Amino acid sequence: SHWEKRVAKSARRNSASNLAVLVTGAAGFVGTHVSLSLKRRGDGVLGLDNFNRYYDPNLKRARQKLLERAGVFVVEGDVNDAALLRKLFDVVPFTHVMHLAAQAGVRYAMQNPGSYVHSNIAGFVNLLEACKSANPQPAIVWASSSSVYGLNSKVPFSEKDRTDQPASLYAATKKAGEEIAHSYNHIYGLSITGLRFFTVYGPWGRPDMAYFFFTKDILKGKQITIFEAPDGGTVARDFTYIDDVVKGCLGALDTAKKSTGSGGKKKGPAQLRVFNLGNTSPVPVSELVAILEKLLKVKAKKKVLPMPTNGDVKFTHANISLAHRDFGYRPTTDLETGLRKFVKWYLEFYSKKSAW
Ligand code: NAD
Repeated sequence: SHWEKRVAKSARRNSASNLAVLVTGAAGFVGTHVSLSLKRRGDGVLGLDNFNRYYDPNLKRARQKLLERAGVFVVEGDVNDAALLRKLFDVVPFTHVMHLAAQAGVRYAMQNPGSYVHSNIAGFVNLLEACKSANPQPAIVWASSSSVYGLNSKVPFSEKDRTDQPASLYAATKKAGEEIAHSYNHIYGLSITGLRFFTVYGPWGRPDMAYFFFTKDILKGKQITIFEAPDGGTVARDFTYIDDVVKGCLGALDTAKKSTGSGGKKKGPAQLRVFNLGNTSPVPVSELVAILEKLLKVKAKKKVLPMPTNGDVKFTHANISLAHRDFGYRPTTDLETGLRKFVKWYLEFYSKKSAW
């Protein structure tokens, strides 16, 4: 059919040494950038996204247009749709799955807990079931989160640190994903790599994240709220620029070993990994605001409040030596350089919005 032809064409790779990747959450922030990078180097890429309304769906549609211009077809569907996944795996023998579809955001969980269970737990299991039954079984790389470190206050965070104190339902579902990955690896020989992203930012970013809505509100002259830690300590984030994260994702895909199962049965030990992908350079939120004021040439109207117990943690800081050792991960973009690129994109995008 026409649909199958589009799917096959999008997933066609330049050579047998290239990858054929199913990217879930492809119309999302990270998914768009990863898909474009893979396509650019000759890999076959098929996107899947349910275009949910967690944030402005027009932004997702604009990213989709960008992807389609680059030859990436984004199938509209849910990772919970088992029949759809089966159909996709029937048409394309994917070598890899880059699983980025999730309900992101920490605070939204207080009003919408079910959405996290649906996408991050049920959806992940459904995807792993499809991978288990696929022939060949693809290697899986998926987005966990720095939030799994929760209330652990020993910094920098390294992969061996405790992750048993999630501060939000979001964090708890990502931690659950890591345990689910362990079981599928153990029983079915699936090769699974979890990537713990640290506050990723950049062009085409997410409107629900602070750097994005601070920019919007500062430009509008609207007051912004900065949280400080109740104990007086700094609230800081290990902001990581999107291009650095994309390099980490490609590094993880390229070093992923084959799954060792077939027909739902395990044949031998398969790879199970988890990596921090951060910037190793935490910046206080007050400094984030100061950089934005400088780049936007507007003074922000600020209100400072003690941080409420809403799922956010005080401080994040990645130790990235494991990703550096295994695939040469080395972030090179400092916050001001990255924000300059974000602001440039923001101003262009929202001035020519009609063009999208
Ligand atoms: P995003 O919300 O922009 O992208 C996720 C995409 O997945 C969205 O386009 C959404 O429509 C889609 N999606 C959600 N549920 C789905 C479902 N059930 N079926 C199909 N599609 C679905 O978020 P992002 O910032 O690009 O994040 C990508 C991944 O990285 C997520 O798993 C997120 O939890 C994780 N992560 C992101 C950050 C960050 O700072 N951006 C930090 C840590 C972890």
